[in-house]
Amino acid sequence: MQYSIDGLVIRETETGENDKRITLLTAERGKITVLAKGARSLKSKYMNAISLFTYGNYEITERSGYSWFGGGSVIEPFYSVRDDIDRLALASYVVDVAGELSGAEEPAEELLRLTLNTLYAIANDLKPHNQIKAVYELRVMAMSGYMPMLDECGICGKNKSELFYLDVMNGMLKCEECIHKLNSRRDIPVSEDGAAFILVPLNYRALSAARYITEASLSKVMSFVLDDEAMKMISKMSETYLLHHLEKNFSSLDFYKSVKNLM
Ligand SMILES: [Zn+2]
Repeated sequence: MQYSIDGLVIRETETGENDKRITLLTAERGKITVLAKGARSLKSKYMNAISLFTYGNYEITERSGYSWFGGGSVIEPFYSVRDDIDRLALASYVVDVAGELSGAEEPAEELLRLTLNTLYAIANDLKPHNQIKAVYELRVMAMSGYMPMLDECGICGKNKSELFYLDVMNGMLKCEECIHKLNSRRDIPVSEDGAAFILVPLNYRALSAARYITEASLSKVMSFVLDDEAMKMISKMSETYLLHHLEKNFSSLDFYKSVKNLM
């Protein structure tokens, strides 16, 4: 079978002498791994089309269970993602997460759109990196079946408080009072990095931002301004939530933290 499809290169691996294996994220067919024969040869005219972070149109031939690259053209190369180490580090983490949350033959229209919008924001410095990263992490989890319940305290139902905690494991808010009550009755151990419960604090502004990130239309999801304290809370919450539920460490995240001096 032969077909042509638009996709974003989210992974590239060199194989053989001049070959390359690329993974595409596509709206219609999810993740597709394609072998490009001779693509690394200097004479190849497709070098740009099969580079990491390129969004393009690809000719694919399916034969005996494998997909082969037959040609392609660039739609959006996101060049400026590659000429800055900070941008490169964040973009690498973003496409790694996209790869983790997509599957073969699982349509991924929203995931692709969010990932493309995020690469666009990185390439054009639309927002600070910690904000782009937190928005991507929280929204990608919400759209992948890990929507946290952010309306009210999951125990008493209160929806307004200066401080809430996200119970990361259960994806549920708990208010300060309920935490103290439970704590004094010793029903649950409360510790920020405890094995049993992971509680991440969210002040009112951070919680409003978290609600916005999960609900806003994709085209507006990055459009908010937040003070440093609330931004730190959102960053901690989004990353902790994603890593906990995906049960995975990303070397690209370590790389991002090392270039940002966060380690
Ligand atoms: Zn409560």
